[in-house]
Amino acid sequence: MKDCIFCKIVKGEISVEKIYENDNFFSTLDTNPKVKGHTLIISKKHFENILELPNALASELLDCIKETAIMLMKKYNAEGFNVMNNNFESAGQVVSHFHFHILPRRKDDEKIKFVV
Ligand code: AMP
Ligand code: ZN
Repeated sequence: MKDCIFCKIVKGEISVEKIYENDNFFSTLDTNPKVKGHTLIISKKHFENILELPNALASELLDCIKETAIMLMKKYNAEGFNVMNNNFESAGQVVSHFHFHILPRRKDDEKIKFVV
């Protein structure tokens, strides 16, 4: 997809450090983190949102979320994490290429509910 920032990452036109990847998803740090270690799970194919994501990819998506979260908890010494996903502009989606957010959390965090 032309002019899609996440497609540019997938094509290697923007270089990022991958935390974890499988055939259809990879994870990388968010460039504007809401907490330390804020990470995105991004599909390698362009889907606008979760409604376009084929159900057959659900297992691989879950694999990427879980493996990434385990690594982030170790790396950032976190005790928990949030998994978030915005769909459509009115729900806060800015990049129209499917992604999940993972936010490592600690007991001493501000006790707020994140909307990313
Ligand atoms: P959303 O509001 O759910 O669409 O979130 C989009 C997220 O993508 C935001 O948290 C941005 O900080 C993040 N973002 C935008 N461009 C990049 C990039 N090149 N690499 C990593 N994260 C990005
Ligand atoms: Zn895209």
